[in-house]
Amino acid sequence: MLRNGKDIASGTTLRTQVCIVGSGQAGITAAWCLQRAGIRVVLIEGSRAQPTLQDSWPDKALLYAGEAAGLFATNERDFLTSPLYQGQSPSERERYFGGTSTHWGGQSRPLDPVDFEAREGFPGWPITRADLDPYYAQAVPLCMLHGQFADDNFSAGYWTRVLGLDGAAMQEIDDFDPCMYQFMGGAFLNFATRVFPDGKTIGDSAADVILNASLLAIEAGEGSVGGLRVASMDDATPPGVATEFRIEADAYVLACGAVANAQQLLLSDIGNEHDQVGRNFLCHPLSMGVSVGVYGFPSAPLSDLMAGNDASGGSWRDANGVRVTGRFQLTADALRDNAIGNCWMRAYSAAAYFEMAPNPESRITLTNTTDKVFGQPQVRIDWRLGALDRKTYERSTALFAAAIKPEGGTVVAPQWASIERAVVVNGHHIGTTRMSADPALGVVDANLRVHSMDNLYVAGSSVFASTGVSNPTFTIITLSIRLAEHLAGRLGAAPAA
Ligand SMILES: Cc1cc2nc3c(=O)[nH]c(=O)nc-3n(C[C@H](O)[C@H](O)[C@H](O)COP(=O)(O)OP(=O)(O)OC[C@H]3O[C@@H](n4cnc5c(N)ncnc54)[C@H](O)[C@@H]3O)c2cc1C
Repeated sequence: MLRNGKDIASGTTLRTQVCIVGSGQAGITAAWCLQRAGIRVVLIEGSRAQPTLQDSWPDKALLYAGEAAGLFATNERDFLTSPLYQGQSPSERERYFGGTSTHWGGQSRPLDPVDFEAREGFPGWPITRADLDPYYAQAVPLCMLHGQFADDNFSAGYWTRVLGLDGAAMQEIDDFDPCMYQFMGGAFLNFATRVFPDGKTIGDSAADVILNASLLAIEAGEGSVGGLRVASMDDATPPGVATEFRIEADAYVLACGAVANAQQLLLSDIGNEHDQVGRNFLCHPLSMGVSVGVYGFPSAPLSDLMAGNDASGGSWRDANGVRVTGRFQLTADALRDNAIGNCWMRAYSAAAYFEMAPNPESRITLTNTTDKVFGQPQVRIDWRLGALDRKTYERSTALFAAAIKPEGGTVVAPQWASIERAVVVNGHHIGTTRMSADPALGVVDANLRVHSMDNLYVAGSSVFASTGVSNPTFTIITLSIRLAEHLAGRLGAAPAA
């Protein structure tokens, strides 16, 4: 069911089992899985029911504006509110039904086992890759990706067989693994309109989806959330408040994206007993307009496969049209031995793209200014790279140069200063409510429950303890499937057949 918050009278209190806030891939996946399990779900989404994505921008500009500091002040001033595809920089965040799934790229790969390990500069996760494997396996068909997860279907070896390249010799290079990325197809990208395996969109499902319903406050008592205060907007330009109502649930899930998840916890002063909320804002820095030059690297088949182009210059695809491309990534041993983060290297010159190390000074806080619709404090976002990030860039480019030298390849790596001046966040907003075993070192536990609250959960990449280099959303979806199973178990529902 799909409805508009302004049709809910002020003073109403809605009752449900689970209330999810935010309708990106994190929130919609959790809602779909929960209603399939027989759980009553209300999914609220702050955006008004706009006819087009472009029309959502005025609301976004009003509600998401704030202060940009650190690298944001110099490299990506408009990060918080940028309109869709302004110049070269695509819109980073959406206030829209479907969230950022309305224009993401669909590139998907699980995190690697080493990404979950504690190693120098990286805290480790309280779960392992093996803990997520059963849920990645469920995410593959849900995302209409290729094959079976159990078949190692993101490895280069697997894809050389699928694409009929296995007869040709595959070059191996020191310290790097060839890793494959699959792409979800067009009709499945936008989670607001996508048809799920049961033939329904989320709006057709049993979930009660309320658009134009913005979370204003999380009402918490001693260790427990009692309700959410929610408001809708009227049709004026700029909008004003139309109605205000409450939602009470057995459990609550914040799925507003990494910036707004932290903002909501800070606004209600929840989960921040150890000053962890908003810290470790991470991403996969990408240098725009400054490339790492790669010359003379050997030809097919490995480099062609890794470049994502088949012999005719088209994309590699399986028989069902699932597109695939490859990257060279550092091996687990190389990461441990060199004490650095990971990177993407390609068989041709490309922008630098690497794993940002956790950095508590890279963070989201609240400002003294307020938004013009609900009058709430805005966010200040301060993105900072550190010495470990420079080491990751310099060491990984040097390792790639050494690895391809025996094959006749060379690498020309720009100085760190020019990379740092050119990096943008690149759509992957990670950290700010990270997962930790120790409440003093993070915000949520291994089940994504806020450490200090018995019924408040967080979904999305804000819970990642480190970024790896895989695009985050396949793992976001996987974690939401796992969260739904946890909540269904806790609330006593049996999964639907
Ligand atoms: C240009 C671009 C390309 C990308 N390509 C890829 C890719 O190829 N592969 C990949 O893995 N990832 C990609 N990403 C990242 C991907 O889009 C995000 O990881 C993903 O969309 C995050 O999903 P989410 O559900 O956590 O948050 P979001 O999609 O940001 O959704 C959050 C939702 O919460 C709502 N909301 C916020 N505040 C409130 C409130 N107070 N009350 C109610 N609702 C609220 C918002 O309106 C929004 O709908 C890309 C991102 C960009 C910008």
